[in-house]
Amino acid sequence: GFKMGIVGLPNVGKSTLFNALTKTAAAQAANFPFCTIEPNVGDVAVPDARLDTLASIAGSKQTIPTRLTFVDIAGLVRGASRGEGLGNQFLANIRECDAVAHVLRCFEDDDITHVEGKIDPVADAETIETELMLADLESIERRRANLARKLKGSDKEAADQDRLLAMAQKALEEGRPARSITVSAEDAKEWRMLQLLTAKPVLFVCNVEEASAADGNSQTARVAEMAAEQGAGMVVISARIEEEISQLDAEESEMFLAEMGLEEAGLDRLIRAGYDLLGLQTYFTVGPKEARAWTITQGTLAPGAAGVIHGDFEKGFIRAETIAFDDYVAGNGEAGAKEAGKFRVEGKTYEVKDGDVLHFLFNA
Ligand code: GDP
Repeated sequence: GFKMGIVGLPNVGKSTLFNALTKTAAAQAANFPFCTIEPNVGDVAVPDARLDTLASIAGSKQTIPTRLTFVDIAGLVRGASRGEGLGNQFLANIRECDAVAHVLRCFEDDDITHVEGKIDPVADAETIETELMLADLESIERRRANLARKLKGSDKEAADQDRLLAMAQKALEEGRPARSITVSAEDAKEWRMLQLLTAKPVLFVCNVEEASAADGNSQTARVAEMAAEQGAGMVVISARIEEEISQLDAEESEMFLAEMGLEEAGLDRLIRAGYDLLGLQTYFTVGPKEARAWTITQGTLAPGAAGVIHGDFEKGFIRAETIAFDDYVAGNGEAGAKEAGKFRVEGKTYEVKDGDVLHFLFNA
């Protein structure tokens, strides 16, 4: 599955947010036991109203949402790249994530110490980014030194790695994160495997006081500007509100949200923003037993999509019976969609679209 690491300076609200994420009834969290070295890991259901729509049309007994994993990565402080705080252990946890949710303190509260002494989310973002850039630089230097030996032979892989590392090193030395580099399609896989911390897409999560949850405040406006400049994602959220909502049932939480002037829970927005940031999309399988959502990356072909369900589906792939979500709803199910001529049989080169309702045929 896909993993989002939650990072940020101490006392910005990471744990509050993580706990809310994994405690919501909707999230049905599968929490792994916490210990000091292992970060907190939680699986979260990706909210998608289309799933309920499909289940009610098809009369499915249950719905199974698709999931996104969040990792609470504590211990990142100024100096982490030099081993301050819990330093390097935690940097390694970020390496394994596909994207980073960077929580920024945008709330005023004199009772909660700010480690840098004042509320300045843009400066805080730079502090963390600097640590990650230093850690990347250090690991690049180490890796290039190790590669030097291999480069004497005709090791194509080593040469590719070194070339990409050199590009990243140049950017970092000029003060830019590795994500500022655009690599070719051929290099994309190797580039991802380098697992550079600053190559990962970033979502800024502005933690605001309750009163600013709907419209943000002057600090979130500054973060919005920074996010736009960097091509990063951004959401405004009140961790406190989310914590309260996570303890309510569905009906109560709707009333609570309405009272606060919010259309939906911030966590739902956060999860979806993470999903978008990772370039993910959803397809559905629908039957009498269950309606289920599955996650694929945008651009995945039908056999690859089948492979998310089971490796054998991909290996023995024959074809995918396909109905677009809107057509499924318009036809009030498969039979109606068929009558309307909206039922398609797609082959190996079909690029699955977000919302497709699929049925795979395969050789066992
Ligand atoms: P972490 O160190 O980033 O994980 O931060 P925590 O989630 O432990 O939060 C640090 C402190 O800030 C706790 O006492 C929280 O209750 C408090 N806190 C978190 N979010 C908010 C918020 O939106 N408003 C206020 N006033 N306090 C908050």
